Amino acid sequence: MRLMLYFDHNATTPLSARAKAAWLEALDRFPGNPSSPHRMGSRADAALTDARERLSAILGCSPLDIVWTSGASESSNMVFHHFARKLHAPNTVWVSAVEHPCVLEAARHYFGARLRLVPVTRRGVLDLDWLADKLQHERPGLVAIMAANNETGVIQPWSAALAMCREHRVPFFCDAVQWFGKLPAAGLGGCDFASGSAHKFGGPRGVGFLKCRADELIEPLIRGGPQEDRRRAGTENVAGVLAMMAALEERESSLAADEQAPRETWRDNFERKLIERLPGASVVGAGQRRLWNTVSALMPGTDGRQRWVVKLDKAGCAVSTGSACSSGKESPSHVLRAMDFSPAEAGRVLRFSSGWETTREQWHELLEALVKVSAGLSQPAEGVQPAL
Ligand code: PLP
Repeated sequence: MRLMLYFDHNATTPLSARAKAAWLEALDRFPGNPSSPHRMGSRADAALTDARERLSAILGCSPLDIVWTSGASESSNMVFHHFARKLHAPNTVWVSAVEHPCVLEAARHYFGARLRLVPVTRRGVLDLDWLADKLQHERPGLVAIMAANNETGVIQPWSAALAMCREHRVPFFCDAVQWFGKLPAAGLGGCDFASGSAHKFGGPRGVGFLKCRADELIEPLIRGGPQEDRRRAGTENVAGVLAMMAALEERESSLAADEQAPRETWRDNFERKLIERLPGASVVGAGQRRLWNTVSALMPGTDGRQRWVVKLDKAGCAVSTGSACSSGKESPSHVLRAMDFSPAEAGRVLRFSSGWETTREQWHELLEALVKVSAGLSQPAEGVQPAL
């Protein structure tokens, strides 16, 4: 396949060279099972302990608070499964309306009618006034607010929400999947629960973590052996964890050197030119604090997002309609609906998400491809129905 312009990093990122090297090295160095009683087992276990210490130092929590998982979907399910056992009716859980499906659907599954959605503004940011007001009168069993939205890139006021929850003694869960590797992770360890996923920041797929309070007796989602302090059964993915830590540390040092700043400028320039060159286009969440790598754009014309994606794919650009988990289906994004976009508008929104390796030239090339594709978008594309 010829080289594509890859603008779908919020869906998954390529494995970074450092993560790959750490992964390969770990496969050779730590072939044992961390639970085994011999030296090969202890060495693997020591490597995991070291990784736990490194992650807890980044987050600002105790190493005992870290549970390795298969990724953020598992971490979210673990949280809601735990609270489903712990909370009894009429206790409710409050979850922001723009959460990733792994939070929303897990909450719905375990809590049904006891799930309450916290609204967002038209710009996609959590309505903190709503939360402050409602917390004066009611005390939910759990509040879940993501750190940054995967579709729009809008940064959520999770630390303000956490402070409110602290004041009212309500446990707080933060899905920080899109934050890790793009913004410094310090402070996230202050959440009672926080989830992360390696493949969103240059690590391998199928590995992630849940930060949870060591003093909370977790009801395991996966039962079996006593691994992870009886919180999650199953032999740990040692090489995956070490590769994930290599990727996270690499991103944290880039952030410490402010290397995201020029990248944010390239993204801003792209947005400005997109609006100039494609009259009628607009940026979702414009004016709001957003991740430096994400553009969510309402495209001009009447063509649905799927047609844009197919045409752009043919032109060599990998872009997305939003969350990878829902891109195969035609229903409008729940995130955009929560932001009060009509189904027709939501059906015209595309997401472009860059990575650390994306260059300024690639942003230019994407813009040129969009201009070209838009000119040819009057013919129906074979086999693809307009979104709405
Ligand atoms: N949370 C957010 C905000 C995401 O963007 C994603 C992935 O798209 C997930 C959770 C799920 O992560 P994983 O692929 O590790 O299950």
